[in-house]
Amino acid sequence: MSTTIDDVLKSFKHSLTAERKKLILDAYEFAMEAHKGQKRRSGEYYIVHCLETAKILADIGMRSQTISAGLLHDVPEDTSITLVEIEKKFGKEVRKLVEGITKLGKIKLRGTKEEYLLENLRRMFLAMAADIRVMIIKLADRLHNMRTLEHNPPDKQIRIARETMEIFAPLADRLGIGELKNELEDLSFKYLEPEKYKEVNEMREKNYKEAKKCLDIATKEIKKELYAKGIKIIDIYGRSKSLYSLFLKLEKYEMDINRIYDLIALRIIVPEIADCYETLGLVHKKYRPMIGRIKDYISLPKPNGYQSLHTTIFGPEGRIIEVQIRTEKMHNEAEFGIASHWIYNDLKKKSWSDYFFKKGNALPEKELAWVKQLQDWQNELGNNDKEFMQGLKIDFFQHRIFAFTPLGDVIDLPEKATPVDFAYSIHTDIGNRISGAKVDRKIVPLDYQIRNGQVVEILTSKLERKPNRDWLESVKTSGARTHIKRQLKKYELI
Ligand code: MN
Repeated sequence: MSTTIDDVLKSFKHSLTAERKKLILDAYEFAMEAHKGQKRRSGEYYIVHCLETAKILADIGMRSQTISAGLLHDVPEDTSITLVEIEKKFGKEVRKLVEGITKLGKIKLRGTKEEYLLENLRRMFLAMAADIRVMIIKLADRLHNMRTLEHNPPDKQIRIARETMEIFAPLADRLGIGELKNELEDLSFKYLEPEKYKEVNEMREKNYKEAKKCLDIATKEIKKELYAKGIKIIDIYGRSKSLYSLFLKLEKYEMDINRIYDLIALRIIVPEIADCYETLGLVHKKYRPMIGRIKDYISLPKPNGYQSLHTTIFGPEGRIIEVQIRTEKMHNEAEFGIASHWIYNDLKKKSWSDYFFKKGNALPEKELAWVKQLQDWQNELGNNDKEFMQGLKIDFFQHRIFAFTPLGDVIDLPEKATPVDFAYSIHTDIGNRISGAKVDRKIVPLDYQIRNGQVVEILTSKLERKPNRDWLESVKTSGARTHIKRQLKKYELI
């Protein structure tokens, strides 16, 4: 059964006022009329794709304008209807979103030439910085295209799957939309490594089947305990690890599935934080916990903001089960990431990029998680480095810019960052060997302030160079500052 507009409305996570309902229904009628007679490769009517895209957006908690833009996203591209007409009927905001998608659609990432690819990526990130909702619609569109990829010729399947794995899944991850990320990865995995996909899938299914009975018993028992203590359960369910993440873990553990403890997890969602801890206690009373596996990500959230209590227990028949306990808010944030804030915050109209990049807003570090970078620093410097923590705060709450390596990798930097910051963000060794820099192909001084979207090429010498003390004045990242100081000490310049 394919999705209907009623399914979209049912998935809508906000109060469905008459006005919002009308906007969505009007967009639906309009899209249906515009795509009349058009069919996709699968043989389905084109409107099915629009509806599926809209449904995904509703599921992750997007609002009526974004959902309407999702319904309309292919109209200007594939029909004779113009953006002006869309604006007349649906207003400026919806037009802006549809326009963003249309522009992104023109970006074809198939360029063999690096520069072509780079230019495309650049435009994509700039579009994202301008309005994050455009990127979320693009991700929903891509997810449905991935779900129906089988109808394409094999070479196209591979190309689209690779692009999804390399660009769109990391983007979804970056935006914290775990659900989208997992499905995009699993679908890409299926086309890129069909044999491994099959192998891992079979392993997982076999294991899940064996574990199912124990999981059911544990669920029942824990429910009973919670009920007896008067703790309300919002949801409790078992889930198995996503295929691709399981595959990555299996590779790490010589394909030995018995060494993976979070293969199946029991997820318990309760109302309050206090309930989380009480639930943890009750679970441990019932089932013996595995030593060293209790993690309190509520008191100490992961760098990307993830919060939950985790424990691994010896469940019924001694089967190892991971238990994850969290509140509904934490759950939505983990599943929907940036989108979850559309569920909780009724944002007034202001520039979305302002909202996401500005200091003091309700979206802290986790939303545009510079997670990887952060983790690298943390590993290098340890958690207790006061200066590091201080620097971190400044880094996070400043405006951010995206700059690019000549190969198209995106480097996040605080505003006014210099090529020295850029070099250290890529690698300590690059920073230590920096001898010069080019921005958009022109040589610049090392205290040059990089602007959004510029391509930065770092020139290096073969060996380490003594750092320049003045760099401490011009760099903007704590990572660079720490490394420069270390080098200065090494060369006894301080
Ligand atoms: Mn589309």
